[in-house]
Formats: sequence, C-alpha cells, structure tokens
Amino acid sequence: MVGQDAHHWVLLRQLKRAGLSTHAPPADEESWRLFLERVSATYLESDKQQYLHDRAVEVSTREMASLYDELAQASESSLALQRDWLQTVFDAAPSGLVVLDAAATVIDVNPSAERLLGISEHSANGQPLGALLSDGSATVVDLQRACELGRDWLDPDAEIWTESRAAFPAALQFVPLVTRGSTGGGVLSILDLSERKRVEQDLSWRATHDVLTRVLNRSALLDRVALGIARAERDGNPRAVLFLDLDRFKAVNDTLGHAAGDRLLMQVATRLSGAIRDVDALARIGGDEFVILLDGVASLSAVELVAHRVTAALAPPYVLGEPYEDPVHASASIGIAVAESGSSPTSLLRDADFALYAAKRAGRDQHVIFDASMRDEVAVRVRLEKLLRAAVSRGDLHMAFQPVFSMSGGALLGFEALLRWTDRDGPIPPSEFIPLAEDSGLIQRIGAIALDIGVSFAAELGRQPMGESLTVSVNISGLQVTHGDLAAQVAEALERHHVPGSRLILELTETALLSDPKAVAARMQAIADQGVELALDDFGTGFSSLTSLREFPLAALKVDRMFTRNVDSSERDRAIVAAVVALGHALGLSVVAEGVETAHHLHTLTEMGCDAGQGFYFGRPLVWESALALAAAWGAPTNG
Ligand code: C2E
Ligand code: MG
Ligand code: MG
Repeated sequence: MVGQDAHHWVLLRQLKRAGLSTHAPPADEESWRLFLERVSATYLESDKQQYLHDRAVEVSTREMASLYDELAQASESSLALQRDWLQTVFDAAPSGLVVLDAAATVIDVNPSAERLLGISEHSANGQPLGALLSDGSATVVDLQRACELGRDWLDPDAEIWTESRAAFPAALQFVPLVTRGSTGGGVLSILDLSERKRVEQDLSWRATHDVLTRVLNRSALLDRVALGIARAERDGNPRAVLFLDLDRFKAVNDTLGHAAGDRLLMQVATRLSGAIRDVDALARIGGDEFVILLDGVASLSAVELVAHRVTAALAPPYVLGEPYEDPVHASASIGIAVAESGSSPTSLLRDADFALYAAKRAGRDQHVIFDASMRDEVAVRVRLEKLLRAAVSRGDLHMAFQPVFSMSGGALLGFEALLRWTDRDGPIPPSEFIPLAEDSGLIQRIGAIALDIGVSFAAELGRQPMGESLTVSVNISGLQVTHGDLAAQVAEALERHHVPGSRLILELTETALLSDPKAVAARMQAIADQGVELALDDFGTGFSSLTSLREFPLAALKVDRMFTRNVDSSERDRAIVAAVVALGHALGLSVVAEGVETAHHLHTLTEMGCDAGQGFYFGRPLVWESALALAAAWGAPTNG
C-alpha cells in the first residue's frame, strides 16, 4: 500500500490540504507548521482509537487478571473512575472471562462467559468451577490445581461442554492473580474456537472436493490415484481409472441453461457414486468430466463390468424438477486405463483420456480400453487441430463451388459450396478436418465463415446475367443447428450481402439432427421461414430414420454417392435410389443425385426421376473465379 513512490493516502490528503506536494519541501514555515499539526492530530486520533480497540477487544488474559486485581483493591472514592473503566473492559472482552478464588469457586463472570457457557452471572457466582464446565477430562481437575497453587495454565486445544451447550472446542488459559498474595485464584479465559474449526474444516473440504457435486476434485483424485498406484505395487492388485465425459451435456447447458446443467451434473454424480464400491473414488475434474478410480481390480473384464454398470446407471431419463418439464437424457463415453508399472497419476489419466477420445469417435455412449497406439493418434490430432486453428485465424480456408444441374433440361441450377484447406503438406479433405472442427468447437467459427463466403458468392452470382436464379448450397454441421443461433446468423448474412433467402440452400446431414428432433425442427423452421431451402444431405447413410422426413421442413433430398456409384451395376443400389426418389417425390421434395461421374450415371439417374445432379461428369468443384466464369457462360445469350 505504501511503496516508495506511493505514500499513504492519509499523508497525501494532509499534504494536499496544506497545499504541499511530495516533490519539494514547503517554501514557507507556516505551511510546514500547519502540515505537521495536521499529521500530529491524525496520529493522535489514530492512537486513541487503537488504544481503545486494544483495551476493549484484545486485552490479554494476563492484563485482565492484573486489572481485576487492581479493581478489587481499589478504594471506592479514589478509584471509582478507574473501576468503571476496568468494568467496561471486562464486560466488552470477546473471550469468556471467569474470575476464580483459590478454591476454584466462581467470583465473577463477564457477559462473553455467560453467553459461551449458557449461564447467568447470578447463577454462576459462588458455584464451583466444575458446575460450569462439565468436562469429564482432566481439564477441570488441572484447572482447580492451578487455581489453588496460583500457577499459569494453558490448554489451547480443549473441548468443553456445559449443561446447556453441546461440546465445543475452546482455548483455555488461566492466569493467577499475583497481587492477591498467596491466596491463589485468578482469571480463566475461554476462547470459543468452534467457528474457527468450522472454517478450517470447510476450507479443507473445499480444497479436496467439487463444491457442486460434492465428489472429489482433481487434486484429491490425483492424490488417491498416486496412493492407489503405490499400493498396487505392494498388493499386486492393479488399479484402473474410468474417464467419463457426458455426451450431450453442452446441449443441455445451451438449451436449458446452466442451472439445468448443474442439476444434471449433481444427479449424474449421485448415480455414479451408487455404481461404485466404497473403496473406489469418484471425482469431477472438469465441466462434465468425471473420473472413477477402481481401487484394486481382479481383471480387465471386471473393469468392463463396472463400465457396463455405470452406463446402465446413467441411462434412465433425468427429471430435473421445476421449471424443467421434459426429462433429459444423458449418456457417457468412457475411456479406461489400467496402471502399468511406472505409471504416474497424470500419465494414467492421460491414457484414459486418449481412450475416452477413441470412445467418442466410435460413436459415444461406449467404453474403450486404452492401448498404446492411441498415443500416436492423439498426437496427430492435436497437431492438426493446432494447424486448423491457425488456418482459421489466418483466413486460410477457402471455398470451392461445384455446379449443380437440372437432370431433365441440363440447365445450371446453382453451386454447392465446399470448404477447402491446404496445409503446408498439401490439401486436407473436409472429411478429416470437419469432424476435428466439430470435436474442438472450431466448427462454429468455420461454419460462420463458410456461410458468409457462400452467401457472398450468391451475391456475386446475382450480378451475372441470369445469375439471379442461381442458388448456392452451403453445408451445415449438426452442431451449428443444435448450438448457437443459426437462424439469426443466416438472416444476418443474407441481409449483409443483399441476397434473398430463396437463393440459399442449407445442406444438413441427419445424424446430428436426431438428438433432439423437436428442438431442431423449430430451429429449422425459423430458417425455412426466411425462404431458405433445407436439403437432407447424404441421405441413406448414417441413421436413416424417417423421422427427419416427417419432422423437418425439408425441400430436397440428396442421394449419397455411395448409392449412385453402382447404380448401373448393382440391382440393390438401383432399388434403393428408386425408393429414395419415390419417397422424396411422394413427400413433395426434389431429389438431387450426388456423384454423377459418367454419362451412364446421368442417363440412369435421369430415367429414375432424379431432379438434379452434381458430379465429376458435370464438373468438379471450382475456385471462385472459375465458378463465376462458368455461371457467366451459362447466362450468355447463346445458352439462354
Ligand atoms: P457432401 O456435402 O456430400 O459433398 C459432396 C462431396 O462429394 C464433396 O466432397 C465433393 O467434392 C464430392 N464429389 C462431388 N462430385 C463427386 C463425384 O462425381 N465423385 C466423387 N468421388 N466425389 C464427388 P468434399 O468436398 O471432400 O466434401 C466432403 C464432405 O465434407 C461434404 O460432403 C460435406 O459433408 C463436408 N463439407 C464440405 N464443406 C463443408 C462445409 O463448409 N461445412 C460443413 N459442415 N461440411 C462441409
Ligand atoms: Mg453437401
Ligand atoms: Mg452429400
């Protein structure tokens, strides 16, 4: 507070009042005198306050004893004033003070002692000390002896209880009254330590627990794991950790709010505690990450058994209580690692985390056991994620535009915008970096960039002859629909680039949309209301549930390349494409074929009734300028 340049604020105020500065001494004597006077007055005031404070509050037992002694000896007339003053100090002392005679009989108690011991001065005076402190331990006996002999006595860690109050921790100090001569007796001070003990306990609990879920925290877990590993070396029973991450926690937090998320976490913790033995440990080490330490396991299959039990425990729906009406569902992905010789707590947790990552990739709600090859996979992923993050920041992501044609008339309908990322070592396909972006949360930024480039390309197309009828399709990750406000983002992009909604198509894959169809449908409707068309991409791959077709306001289906590829050779694939076309048309949707690579494809797919198509036969994805040139050529009068 008071450094070399920074003076105390009181001093600075006095200087200012005296019209002085810290830089130079005063020029005239008068202002120097005034200044000193003021500083002096301040000190005096401060002394007085300190003195009163010290006397009234921090008066020591020893002083108290001698003060009381004086008080007792003071003659009525000469020392009346002092007596009053001493009485005030005695009454105001925060410690309980009990004045005892040589036989340990109570002569006087102050108000703090009355409060602490639940007695009144009236009832206490004349009582033996033992009647006040019903302490079965040696305390009372020791005290009586100290009283009798007029000796100092101290027990900083006593526990006392009285008739009216349950046991409480206290510091006791006895100081004999010296000036009373050889008669013994003195002052016992009692300092109630229960609040301090409570705070201490609370602090140590907080240092080792997660306050929300009341399970262990990360540092306590690391201690337990270290202990477990050390014991395993002695008892030969391996220790295993299960690293859990809730699969849809973020969605709950985002859609229902943090209060709902907190309730879910508490219930998850309760269920997990119920699924493990007392000797095992449960900790929450991050937002929705829990770790279970199995303290000694017979075999790997025993660990897997626990994983199954945990999965089953988490499965039933969670009722979060008012005001959350609908129950929510949560599952966890689990990574398992068993301590090897030489494992450290952090390496064991890291291995389990690698396995967890593999479990997530394998489709969530699964458990995976760590093996050493995972370390390399993760290292590669971490490196790639770093590169991707940097590429996004530098604006290194580009868009390619693949033309989409009408199957019957062969007219250019528009373009599908496809992201491109070329790293130093060459191009990295979207099938690699999009999932990475989804895992790392980068997808929101990347998605916004893709949307913006797509819409600005539509604006540019609109400036070409005939270009105002061309559409641009932008791929959207399911996470963009379930997290964040995509509808507002779309509206904003359309407005910024002055593009009508009808010129934008958003392509969604169904897998990510099915987690919460009702909520997703409402969000998609808000987008469709802007005139934007929604197309279901990769139809037939992933989970093909007809739910999407019923719930979502779709305008088109895109038949996945997987089926068009063999449409000429495989009876089965042809049947699937035919069924998709029939289904789409029955629902009033247009059907777009992907992967039209040959004239044969084109012919067959046209015959089968596909409305539009795209593929290498029509054209590969093009850079911005080439795509524009293609559109311009189409819009030129000869083509019109
Ligand atoms: P998609 O939306 O189904 O895109 C079609 C993919 O098929 C593109 O691959 C395209 O280059 C490729 N393709 C087009 N015609 C042919 C053909 O005749 N033969 C073959 N073999 N392939 C063809 P790409 O660009 O590698 O994109 C792969 C996937 O990555 C896309 O599948 C899409 O799901 C995703 N993706 C691409 N850009 C974005 C984006 O901006 N955001 C999101 N969320 N996903 C994107
Ligand atoms: Mg697509
Ligand atoms: Mg597709």
